[in-house]
Amino acid sequence: MKYIFVSGGVISGIGKGIATASIALLLKSAGFKVSPIKMDPYLNVDAGTMNPIEHGECFVLDDGTETDQDLGHYERYLNESLNKNNIATQGSIYLSVIQKERNLEYDGASVDVVNYITEEILSRVRQAGRSKNADIVLVEIGGTAGEYQNVLFLEANRQLKLKKHDDVLHVHVTYLPIPGSLGEMKSKPAQMSVRDLNAVGIQPDIILARAERPLDQSRIKKLAVSTGLEPEYIISAPDVKNVYSVPLKFEEQGLTEKILGKLGLKRKQTDLKEWGAFVESSEKEGKTVKIGIVGKYFTSGDFSLMDSYISVIEAIKHASFKLGVRPEVTWLDASKLEINPEQLSKFDGVIVPGGFGARDVEGKIKAVQYVRENNIPYLGLCYGMQLAVVEFARNVLGLKGAHSTEVDQETDHPIIHIMPEQIKTLLKREYGGTMRLGAWEADLKAGSKIRALYGREKTSERHRHRYEVNNEYRDRLEKAGFKVVGQSPDNKLVEIMELEGHPFFVGSQFHPELKSRPLDPHPMFLGFIEAASRK
Ligand code: GLN
Repeated sequence: MKYIFVSGGVISGIGKGIATASIALLLKSAGFKVSPIKMDPYLNVDAGTMNPIEHGECFVLDDGTETDQDLGHYERYLNESLNKNNIATQGSIYLSVIQKERNLEYDGASVDVVNYITEEILSRVRQAGRSKNADIVLVEIGGTAGEYQNVLFLEANRQLKLKKHDDVLHVHVTYLPIPGSLGEMKSKPAQMSVRDLNAVGIQPDIILARAERPLDQSRIKKLAVSTGLEPEYIISAPDVKNVYSVPLKFEEQGLTEKILGKLGLKRKQTDLKEWGAFVESSEKEGKTVKIGIVGKYFTSGDFSLMDSYISVIEAIKHASFKLGVRPEVTWLDASKLEINPEQLSKFDGVIVPGGFGARDVEGKIKAVQYVRENNIPYLGLCYGMQLAVVEFARNVLGLKGAHSTEVDQETDHPIIHIMPEQIKTLLKREYGGTMRLGAWEADLKAGSKIRALYGREKTSERHRHRYEVNNEYRDRLEKAGFKVVGQSPDNKLVEIMELEGHPFFVGSQFHPELKSRPLDPHPMFLGFIEAASRK
């Protein structure tokens, strides 16, 4: 097995995840089995307990593992579903070591951070490879070089390199700023981040130089001299409009060959045709479709919101590119919609995505009412479906004060309620990893719009929630035209609802966006975007 570690330098958020996903795709297209693993430095055992504003979206895998958005990048680029072996947080690593210590599995040794933690890190790396029978494991190290947080991951990398010199490669993704006051690209921060790596015993083999613009020869030379790399191993990675074009840009610079050469491997094939065609379709002109996303996770500008709903945005793109239209996404603050839902009239389609808690809930409900009454295509994702049911109960069934018990425990009409097993875990304050999580099957109802979109009788979709539609109200909802068109195989859980006589008004209890892939857009998003483009 070969190992590629990917680290970041200078600043966070320069696209290490996209870079890792792109390299994974390139190696796969060259005929190798790859398995990526994200090493997250935080002490949370998983991403499920983290605030999305701080950490971005929580990406859920089929097996229910709650991970960060990089796993989403890996799955989208590789077009493969990953599992718990493809993520490790520092918290989960410490937890295993401490559990083993408590079970006397270390035979009374004094359990030090080095080598017990580093050994556990390497065992996770090997497990990631074994679980996919991989030729190459890609290890993305969270955080930036030079900080305390990720130093044990780098130490594990150093130790593995000592043991298996020719099988271990290090790719450093760093950043060259162009300060506005100077107008000149500066390489010093990148030189320093490499020096930070050197200080912990790591010499990168390849540098991916992120910058606003491509690097010029003099910058490449300077970096090469100061880092001790041949200039050909410094790859220019300028900002791009379309992140899906990154693998192709790397391929143009011969990155695949350079990596394979360093690992002593030979390309078996080149298979980037489908990806190339997708990228081409994503860059074509087309009719603009205006989509509004109603959210609340934005306190520090639009950027954090985008990160909180990254899979939703990507799913919109995948479906739009397939249908030959250009999506234009606007963020709508739910609190403002409560006062003025008319601003939704200018959109071709509206999404209420997943969410938690009481804040801004009335604004979201107002938004749903407006699009329902005004025939604007609507897609409700998890909370977005639950709130559509609440709105319908109040305004069509006339059930005054109907609500989800997540927001109003005293409501006369708990149309969305919590399952009994869930109440038990909450009483015990067991919040981590206890929601209805991961892939669950759903039967799709014959004759429904959704069934036609899927083109099959069953689906399996990813969940992350505690509350469900209350079955006591199902008949009333259906009689009034809000139909259950997807349900669990035992008929007990509502999975998809569809409103009759509306151009497109669909909600799902699961998150379809988590299974949308560039080469395989999700049927629900295809239906939604198609309806929006008709408006
Ligand atoms: N808050 C809702 C629940 O827990 C919806 C969660 C979500 O949108 N993912 O059921």
